[in-house]
Formats: sequence, structure tokens, C-alpha cells
Amino acid sequence: MVEPSRELLAPGEVVDPYVTALAQFDAAADYLDLDESTRQYLRNNRRELLVRLPVRMSDGSISVFWGCRIQHSWARGPSKGGIRYHPSVSLDEVRALAMWMTWKCAVVNIPFGGAKGGVRVDHKKLSQRELESLTRRYAVAITPVIGPNADIPAPDVGTTPQTMAWFMDAYGGTQRRWSPEAVTGKPISVGGTVGREEATGAGIMYVVKEAARRNRLTPSETTVAIQGFGNAGQWSARLLKGLGFQVVAVSDTSGGIHNGHGLDIEAAIAQKLDSGRVTDHKNGDRVTNEELLTLPVDILVPAAFENQITTANASDIKAKIVAEAANGPTTPEADQILNDAGALVIPDVLASAGGVVVSYFEWAQNRSGVYWEKEEVDSRLDQIMTRAYGQVANVAEKEKLTMREAAIVLGIRRVVEATVLRGMRP
Ligand code: NAD
Repeated sequence: MVEPSRELLAPGEVVDPYVTALAQFDAAADYLDLDESTRQYLRNNRRELLVRLPVRMSDGSISVFWGCRIQHSWARGPSKGGIRYHPSVSLDEVRALAMWMTWKCAVVNIPFGGAKGGVRVDHKKLSQRELESLTRRYAVAITPVIGPNADIPAPDVGTTPQTMAWFMDAYGGTQRRWSPEAVTGKPISVGGTVGREEATGAGIMYVVKEAARRNRLTPSETTVAIQGFGNAGQWSARLLKGLGFQVVAVSDTSGGIHNGHGLDIEAAIAQKLDSGRVTDHKNGDRVTNEELLTLPVDILVPAAFENQITTANASDIKAKIVAEAANGPTTPEADQILNDAGALVIPDVLASAGGVVVSYFEWAQNRSGVYWEKEEVDSRLDQIMTRAYGQVANVAEKEKLTMREAAIVLGIRRVVEATVLRGMRP
């Protein structure tokens, strides 16, 4: 049995995300009364690959970076999950993210298992050439365990479509063939799909729209605060505003901006792209990230990192709906506090699934060679996200569970069904 390890944990981490992921799994396994064998099978990752990546830097020196690729499940299909570039990436963090990917793919019912990769690097300090070398090293290092029918990477924090283009090229070189289906989140010109860049934000938009409909909220009278202003945060802000919601606050690592009348999101995005700091946008009051989380808004979208909503701030959160774009933003204790206060938490394994759903569309298009129009991507994503929301809400209502419990229970049920049908080898 794999015990959660504190090896390589970033200093100062509040809660080990893997402890959170295992606690969520154990609670669901108890509820489902899983037998010990199935429990052990699903609790442990199928494969953990550690790699060291020597890269020649611009000054001629060699730096060696730490990386890993973790595959949690292949029961329902090849494993799928992003690659994170961050200075504090840890083994336990990637283990947690891989397990969550398994439940996420099962909750939205796409034919993938879960995986995740990480490289410990401050990507902002590397030149483009150094980043390219690092990405090619990493792609070749994990090539033995990935592939279109084995494990398909994608972008996550710190990685972009450009990273995926380098990754595809390096992987294709090892196979000596054009292999766009080996990785998703690519630029459109090298086999990416329309709609992938905004997909995680679009998924947030569809679940928030559905939650608003069920709770009789009128978008124009509903305020939203968003923590994190990268891919997930920017697109959530833009698309929710497009639906008529009032996005009144956003933040990045430089802090947040707040305007009770609604922010000019396009101008805030332009500012972020220009200076790298959303707080350089002047059309709002400065707030700290702590203040942003506890603003008097109707909907809070954490779109940055794990462990942002904790016992230190959960009881001050005023939002009645929390839509988790980030993976693992809420600690289990904080989750309890939010539930006790009557907040509706739309959990990460449902709310942030838009990215992997459109990655599935990209993989399917690469395999068939037939490319879809944007309308087809949008309408299929809407259908999948809205249906998954309804299925999770039904389980929650019938079985008197929270949305998070219901989502994880639904995901585990689907993975158990596939695991039992296939049988456990050897
Ligand atoms: P990103 O690197 O594009 O952006 C991250 C943003 O968070 C940056 O703006 C950064 O400044 C900000 N940030 C970091 N720490 C912060 C803090 N303490 N307070 C406020 N802002 C902070 O990453 P992303 O792709 O947008 O991913 C964000 C989250 O969404 C992650 O948890 C990721 O796993 C999750 N997610 C992303 C995708 C995807 O397709 N990109 C899919 C599913 C889930």
C-alpha cells in the first residue's frame, strides 16, 4: 500500500493535497462499502515515473531539473492529465492531481483514466530556448510510458500550447511519425482543436449557468469574484461576463482588483498580457488575495492553486456558490465549513472538467483526421457539462450527499464498474 509521503513537499504547504485526495477517496470508499481489494487497487497509482532532466542553459552551464509522470488509472481508457511547471511541484501534489483526473474523467463520462506530470521549475526565469530544451528533455524522458493509447499529456499551470507543440515534436521524433494525438492543448496549426484554449473557462461557464438556473439567480444581478488570472481565470471571467454575470473582482499573484459595478474584463486581460500583473489595471480598487476570497459576492471561482480555501478563511467566505476551476482549492475542513454554512460547492472534479473534455475532442479529431467547427465543440461541451452537473446533482439529492461527495462517488462507481468488468491483472 502506498502511504502518502511528505518527500519533496514544498516548504510551507498547508495541507498535502495527496492527503486530501486520499481522505476524499477513503470517505467515498466507506460510503460505497468497497471491498478491501478494490479499495487497495484504486487507492494506489498504477505507475510513478521520476525523471531528472539535464538542460544546457543560455550561459553554457547545465541545470538538472526534477520531474515526474504519475498514472493513477487506466481502467476506462488511456490515462490523461496535464503537465505542471512550477517551482514547488511535489510528488504528492502530482499524485493527488492524477487521482483527481481519474474521478474527473469518469464524472463527465469520457473514456480516459487519470494521470498528471510535473517539472520543478520557475518557468518565468527561463528563456524560451531553455524552456524548449527542458520540454523536449521531459517529453523524451517520459516517452516510454506515454502515447495515444497509453497516456496523453496536456497543459496545466505554467505550460501553454507552445509547450505542447514542442512536446508533440519531441515525442513524434522518437516514434518517427506525425503523432498529434499523443498530446492535447496544441496550437490549432499543429493539430489542436478550436475551443481548447477557453475550454476550462467554458466548462465553468456551463456549470455556473446550470447552478444559477437551478437556484433561480439572474445573471445580471449576480456578482462573481475570480482568484487566479491565467488560462482558467481569464476565460472564466470573459465567458461569465459574456453570459451577463457581473464579474466584480479578479486577482493574480500580484493581488486583486475590485469594482462593485463590474470590471472591464477585456481591459484587465490586456493589462495582464502586457505587464504580467492584473493589478496594473486601474479601473478598480486594490484588494489582497485574502480580501478577494471573502468579498460579499454571490459566486466565487477559485482558479489558481490548491489549498486556497482553508480553515483560516472558510468561515469568512460570503459567496453562496463556489465553482472550483482550480484543482483542490478547498481543504476538507474548509469544505465542511462551507457546507455547514449552506454554500453550494461545485467541486473541481466536475467544475474544472471542461479542459479535459475538449482535450478528448482534440484527441478524437486527431485520430479521425476530421476537424470540427467551433459550434460543434461548444454544443458538445455544453451537453457533456450540463448532463454531468445533472447526474451529480441527482446523486447528491437522492443519496443526501454534498455535490463533492456525489461527484466522487459517481466517478468511483464508474471506475469500479470498468475495473471489475475487465478483471484485475495479473
Ligand atoms: P495558469 O498558470 O495559466 O494561471 C495560474 C494563475 O494563478 C496565474 O494568473 C497566477 O498569477 C495565479 N495565482 C497563483 N497563485 C495565486 C494566488 N495565491 N492568488 C491568486 N492568484 C494566484 O494556470 P491555469 O491553467 O489557469 O490553472 C489554474 C488552476 O486551474 C490550476 O489548479 C489547474 O490545475 C486548474 N486547471 C487548469 C486547466 C487548464 O486546462 N488550464 C484545466 C483544469 C484545471
